[in-house]
Amino acid sequence: MIQTRLPLLGFAAYSGTGKTTLLEALLPKLTDAGLRVGMLKHAHHNFDVDKPGKDSFRLRKAGASQMLISSRNRYALMTETPDAEAQFEYLLTRFEHDTLDVILVEGCKNIAFPKIELHREAIDKPWLHPHDTNIIAVASDQQVETVLPTLDINNLQQIADFVLDYVNNYQAAATTPAASCCDILSPAMFSVEQGQQKILDAVNVQNLSESLAVEKCYQRVLANAVHSPINVPAYTNSAMDGYAIRGDDLEAQDYQVVAQVMAGYAYQKPLQKGQAVKIMTGAPTPENGDTVVMREQAEQSGDRVSFGGASISAGQNVRQAGEDLAASQLVFEANTRILSAEMGMLASIGLANIDVKRQLKVAIFSTGDEVQSPGDAFKANTIYDSNRYSLMGLLQNLNCEILDYGILEDDQDTIVSALSKAAIEADVILTSGGVSVGDADYVKHALEALGEINFWRINMRPGRPLAFGKISDKPFFGLPGNPVAVMVSFLNFVEPALRKMQGEVNWQPVKMPAIATEPLRSRQGRTEFSRGVYTQDEQGRILVRTTGKQGSGILRSMSEANCIIEIAPWVDNVKEGEQVTIVPLQGRL
Ligand code: AMP
Ligand code: MG
Repeated sequence: MIQTRLPLLGFAAYSGTGKTTLLEALLPKLTDAGLRVGMLKHAHHNFDVDKPGKDSFRLRKAGASQMLISSRNRYALMTETPDAEAQFEYLLTRFEHDTLDVILVEGCKNIAFPKIELHREAIDKPWLHPHDTNIIAVASDQQVETVLPTLDINNLQQIADFVLDYVNNYQAAATTPAASCCDILSPAMFSVEQGQQKILDAVNVQNLSESLAVEKCYQRVLANAVHSPINVPAYTNSAMDGYAIRGDDLEAQDYQVVAQVMAGYAYQKPLQKGQAVKIMTGAPTPENGDTVVMREQAEQSGDRVSFGGASISAGQNVRQAGEDLAASQLVFEANTRILSAEMGMLASIGLANIDVKRQLKVAIFSTGDEVQSPGDAFKANTIYDSNRYSLMGLLQNLNCEILDYGILEDDQDTIVSALSKAAIEADVILTSGGVSVGDADYVKHALEALGEINFWRINMRPGRPLAFGKISDKPFFGLPGNPVAVMVSFLNFVEPALRKMQGEVNWQPVKMPAIATEPLRSRQGRTEFSRGVYTQDEQGRILVRTTGKQGSGILRSMSEANCIIEIAPWVDNVKEGEQVTIVPLQGRL
């Protein structure tokens, strides 16, 4: 749930219940009692506080991204958010907290913070509180069965007293040390961010490097900074097929073509006034020949060429030596990941070999007596191992060396000896299966015997169980068993750690906002990772839907997805048309 220093209290109701009318009548009672109230209201996307014709309106429409208008009695800051609606938590930071005692919220039904449900029998809508644990009281004109405090929606003083009590108690709670958190949350219960941080803090950059041919360097990480030994381009050259002339000789009717220069060759003499050299793209421009007119604008007859009045500016269509990279200029920082463009750039400065961090060796295991190798005849009551193969792909994508230890029997001694061996041979160890609560305890006992492994429950779905620790100082990840959970856990916890170990500094996955085209189920208090398909509509907006059934065993959902829809713990179900965060998967699977 969203934590704020100021008490935050919402009013949740179906439209027609009279939220605003009630708040309008309630506010004087609160301010009379001395409360300084901030209000946050969620409105429909086309709302505007400004009026057409007003100066502020005109300035905004003329392009101001932010419009702050002020007078003796008030000021208003209007900020345009064309790309994405501002997040609830960010909006809260916009209030001047020192000048308020409470923030009341109208709307924002699907954000997790304490609310009073408003209910009127005549509106004939279902109760909200049975499905919303954020509701702390119910105000209604109807009898209701609930353990929550009930208020009479027509008794404003009663509601005001409840709000005043809430604010007073909130302040009391905020000033006494919070002991209660640790009673509810077991120490092994972490948010996604907490788990990620603990893992990143625990792994170190590996520092061994090797010299490797550039063509072998895809997805490797540079061991050292790279400076260019040469100018790129090395010499000034033509950017077009055409004619090189002097920039101080643009007025002539026509020119004498004194030579033709192909790429790879050069005209050795200085160009004189009245002369032109026919030149191909990439060929060095002759001395003085600092301007190129493209062939389409030229008319050559015999050894004379004219440019038919084309407007020519001195220096046009020429690539200067060193304009891409100057000699000794920094090309890449150390720890840059080498992808296709980097391979090309390394080659462009003439390097055939380069020092890169050596590959990380990652040992992978599957566990479980029910897990069988693909290729074997199908046995009753078993499933084919998919996790090891998904992991192989994910690891190849990061250019790790894979040490495949196959499937481990559910037997403690086997597991202990295999993991001990892996800890000698590999830099990182990954297993899948056997770490959830209901599991046969082999993996867990084996890991406990090896020491330093913690069993976490991460507030996420899929992928709640996660074991992390070290075996002989080598990072160990015990991923869940379900195939989707394995991949989602890998993306969230293993990939950032591997990238750090490989040397990449502060890697962050790409995330962006998208509009949900269908309702998305999510539970408050945990991060929900649904598999999604995003598309762009004609207006350029990014839309997203799920791949359908979201069971954590349905690996097809990963295959069909082009993104993960990440729903933050404080967001409840998402309605159609609302904004969500997506994590594109291109380049990561
Ligand atoms: P566990 O956490 O071991 O209870 O596993 C959870 C679920 O994932 C069970 O249905 C397992 O059968 C399944 N599972 C475990 N390991 C694998 C694997 N290597 N490939 C596919 N499914 C697996
Ligand atoms: Mg198992």
